[in-house]
Amino acid sequence: MRIYDVLIVGGGHGGAAAAMALRQKGFEGSVAIVTDEPSPPYERPPLSKEYLAQEKSFDRILIRPETYWDDRKVELLLGERVIAVDPARRQVQLRSQEKLGYGSLIWSAGGAPRRLACSGHDLPGVHSVRNREDVDRMMAELPDVESVVVIGGGYIGLEAAAVLRKFGKKVAVLEALDRVLARVAGEPLSRFYEAEHRTHGVDVRLGVAVDCILEKEGRASGVRLADGEELPAQMVVVGIGVTPSVAPLLDAGAAGGNGVAVDGQCRTSLPHVYAIGDCALHRNAFAVGAEIRLESVQNAVDQAAVAAQAILGGTEVYRAVPWFWSNQYDLKLQTVGFSLGYDDVVVRGQPQDRAFTVVYLRQGRVIALDCVNSTKDYVQGKALVLAGMRISADQLADASRPLKELAAEAASPADG
Ligand SMILES: Cc1cc2nc3c(=O)[nH]c(=O)nc-3n(C[C@H](O)[C@H](O)[C@H](O)COP(=O)(O)OP(=O)(O)OC[C@H]3O[C@@H](n4cnc5c(N)ncnc54)[C@H](O)[C@@H]3O)c2cc1C
Repeated sequence: MRIYDVLIVGGGHGGAAAAMALRQKGFEGSVAIVTDEPSPPYERPPLSKEYLAQEKSFDRILIRPETYWDDRKVELLLGERVIAVDPARRQVQLRSQEKLGYGSLIWSAGGAPRRLACSGHDLPGVHSVRNREDVDRMMAELPDVESVVVIGGGYIGLEAAAVLRKFGKKVAVLEALDRVLARVAGEPLSRFYEAEHRTHGVDVRLGVAVDCILEKEGRASGVRLADGEELPAQMVVVGIGVTPSVAPLLDAGAAGGNGVAVDGQCRTSLPHVYAIGDCALHRNAFAVGAEIRLESVQNAVDQAAVAAQAILGGTEVYRAVPWFWSNQYDLKLQTVGFSLGYDDVVVRGQPQDRAFTVVYLRQGRVIALDCVNSTKDYVQGKALVLAGMRISADQLADASRPLKELAAEAASPADG
């Protein structure tokens, strides 16, 4: 049986970053990444952006060139899926039945796209956007596609819609709630993106329920809504969130539910087992200490560094300000902080200028910013979120005053 000092499950952003952090911190033991994808670690965000738009080739979205992993003595076990964990023996079992031993295990298996439950959900022509193969399949079909229905008005669905419009496809976006981005952003941002997509010719439908995926000659041919309306489409893209891939850990007795529970050093309740990234359920200082999972590159990379440090005996605790980005059309959205539980929203600048910032406050303190084509606010706003500064809504709304000027004047939490 092969035994590794550190075995990493999942070769996505978290897994790659964990191996890189171990080597950067001088760890000389054996390290392997076992991942069920056939490719070396690559960046996931371009899948719904530049890669789908065919502006970046696969080589350009690799996290590191292929030779990097050999050079750093990180073994890549590609196309192998872990199906069980035995924490007492410190072993994992692969689908191929092989067992691998570990000193420490870092679980960074991300999540699997949620599927529709209705009939037709698994027809050819129905796609998720989670990995390279999903997008390659979409790209192969696109030349024969005129109309696309995107189910889910979250970031991934909207990004895909923007790219598909660029290709000249007829696009409808179906959202069950009464606004797009409802789970992640405040109303002003949702309304702005809804209007942008409509301006670009997307048929945005809000508050709609899907009855089924229609079929013709063994392929998806459209979507029937609960009210009976039928939207013809040769392609259906489903972006309705992910389910964390943690079953082997929970089956082995790890605490958790919607993810695997970790402490401030990314330790699970199983000895020598850490979890990071999309699947790690952690108490987040920027979310009023709520137990959450964050689905962002920043979180995966920062938690990877914390887990690597913990394995090396460090005491560093995860306390990174969450940040995220999304590109749609010529709009660059940069988000910092976590808007959970906001009680006030301020808009800096004019949405019609296509450069503005939405600031979220809780009990008078700045907790998050959504910056649209407004990198300066994003860069300067980070300090406000980090310190939880008290700044009045009137001051924040004055876009002529840079945030760093307001920050300099503001009282710190210690004073306030
Ligand atoms: C289309 C798309 C666009 C995105 N855009 C952005 C963005 O703009 N900005 C941003 O910050 N974030 C974005 N994200 C989110 C970001 O990519 C994720 O938060 C990040 O990839 C999480 O890293 P991870 O290591 O936790 O999981 P992943 O990167 O998902 O890696 C998990 C890996 O583990 C593998 N795996 C799963 N189960 C097993 C198993 N049992 N055995 C072996 N291998 C397994 C998976 O196949 C996968 O390769 C986007 C995600 C997607 C899908």
